[in-house]
Parts: sequence; C-alpha cells; structure tokens
Amino acid sequence: MSDACIFCRIVAGTIPATLVASNEHGVAFRDVNPQAPSHLLVIPRRHVASLAEATDGAALGALMLLAAEVARSDGLAEAGYRVVVNTGNDGGQTVHHLHLHVLGGRAMHWPPG
Ligand code: 5GP
Ligand code: ZN
Repeated sequence: MSDACIFCRIVAGTIPATLVASNEHGVAFRDVNPQAPSHLLVIPRRHVASLAEATDGAALGALMLLAAEVARSDGLAEAGYRVVVNTGNDGGQTVHHLHLHVLGGRAMHWPPG
C-alpha cells in the first residue's frame, strides 16, 4: 500500500470510488472518466506498478475472472466487451498501479488509437 498511489487509496477506502465488486485479490470500480457507456477498472489489492512488473500468475488470473464477472453484472456478456491493460509510456499508462479496463455498451474499433 502506497499513500502516493491513488488506486491503493481506493483499495484502502481513503478516497471514494463507485465500487462494483471485490474479492480477496482485487477490487472493481467505475472509471471516473468513462470512455464507453460501461467503463470499469479492475485492480489488485496489492500494489503492482504494471503488467510488466507482475509475477503472480494466479493473482492475474483472478483479476481476469473478476473482469469477466463485472462485465456480466454490467450486462455486457452477450453483446461483448473489451479488456485493456495499458502498460508503460507507449501503452498509455497514466496510473502506475496495474489495472484492467473493462469497456462495453458500444461497438469498439480496431486498431486502437
Ligand atoms: P490508464 O491511462 O493508466 O490506463 O488508466 C487510468 C484510468 O484511471 C483512466 O481511465 C482514468 O480515468 C482513471 N482514473 C484516474 N484517477 C481516478 C480516480 O481517482 N478514480 C477513478 N474511479 N478512476 C480514476
Ligand atoms: Zn497502488
């Protein structure tokens, strides 16, 4: 847990977020600046700076399953959705605590920008 990390503070409950699910591995909440009708973030409870630093495969798998669970509970499973993990500068990562974006409620485009 890092006081300087905004997502650690969301996990700790010291800054507010609209939580949608949580389990022993992770927490899911709504993105404050949504890029789609449904835009959820799924993060590990434990601070990991990015996918490039991740070492615990079981914990990563649990986050993927939590992403699928919140996509289902937001009604996205049938039409489909996109899961994105921006990593590092070229990946467009701005918050340096690993997070999965779950985006849905509209058709996505490819290639991404
Ligand atoms: P990145 O660009 O690092 O992949 O994504 C970071 C995401 O975190 C952005 O979509 C941004 O809107 C979201 N975000 C940044 N600060 C906060 C916050 O304090 N609360 C919530 N709910 N989302 C945040
Ligand atoms: Zn953190």
